[in-house]
Amino acid sequence: MAIVLPLSVSVEAYAAAGRDVEVEVPRCPDCASSMGRWSGYWRFVRQAATCFKVFVARARCSSCASTHALLPAFCVLSRLDGAEVIGAVIEAVCAGPSGVRPAALSAGVPHTTARGWVRAFGRNSRRLRAAFSALAIELAGDVVSVGADLRASALDAIRASWDAAMSLPGWAALSPWRFCSAVCGGSFLASNTNSPYLFVGRRRFMPPVP
Ligand SMILES: [Zn+2]
Repeated sequence: MAIVLPLSVSVEAYAAAGRDVEVEVPRCPDCASSMGRWSGYWRFVRQAATCFKVFVARARCSSCASTHALLPAFCVLSRLDGAEVIGAVIEAVCAGPSGVRPAALSAGVPHTTARGWVRAFGRNSRRLRAAFSALAIELAGDVVSVGADLRASALDAIRASWDAAMSLPGWAALSPWRFCSAVCGGSFLASNTNSPYLFVGRRRFMPPVP
């Protein structure tokens, strides 16, 4: 299982640290025991038309021995582009007046790539809206008003839970799309969206997903 860490460090700075990148190792998501660093692997992330080679640390649980990749929050599962690049395209198309083609152009990505993101987000928008609305309520008691447009209201729900999470220790300074990636394990475009959850210290928030 991939754990996405709520890191606000720039992609450039993270990449420059190479294998020596410093990450706080969370508790095991399976059994809540402490984990230690356990090797890792390299992957690429594209940001502003530049590909960065970044090191993804792994952690191993001292109790149940399961291992977990510790992805920085700018990573999205199975996508080369960074969370903020993808998020900007989705917002421009799903909540703004932009078509996919101009949004792709301003993000510097192929039209077909941007179209794939928007379609994947559209497929997940019902689940994302439900999950992030529940998270916003859990964190702040805020009820997210639900509009008729699924994609736009999924974005509203992500934004509302981001707003609520910014007052929590360790989560301030995170952009909305890094927050989104961190909370759902980088899977907001995946065909199986993980349940969103976030750790604050030892407390785990995990809203139900219908
Ligand atoms: Zn464990």
